Amino acid sequence: MPLPGIVSGKAARCAAQCRATKERCWNPAAFGMATCRYHGARRRQTVRTGPDHPKYKHGQETLGAKRRRSDGLVRLAEYEELLAGAGKLTGPRTRGPKPG
Ligand SMILES: [Zn+2]
Repeated sequence: MPLPGIVSGKAARCAAQCRATKERCWNPAAFGMATCRYHGARRRQTVRTGPDHPKYKHGQETLGAKRRRSDGLVRLAEYEELLAGAGKLTGPRTRGPKPG
């Protein structure tokens, strides 16, 4: 009996075909894979590790980096306000929400 996720179409179905019955496998496909664990999804050759893994954390978006970028945007908004107040700002303003 197929799982409810397979019947409703929410879960990806294994793409393997049974040699004996010629029917398609009814197991859900493994995360990020086309086949289930019985049909080669967890083989060492197909398991994505490191930067290829879908949940890989690269460490480039740290809290410190976010804080530095936010502080820079606050300074930019202040400079833009000064320039706009003096009538020196000719180009478009920075898009997006302004820091409070
Ligand atoms: Zn399968």
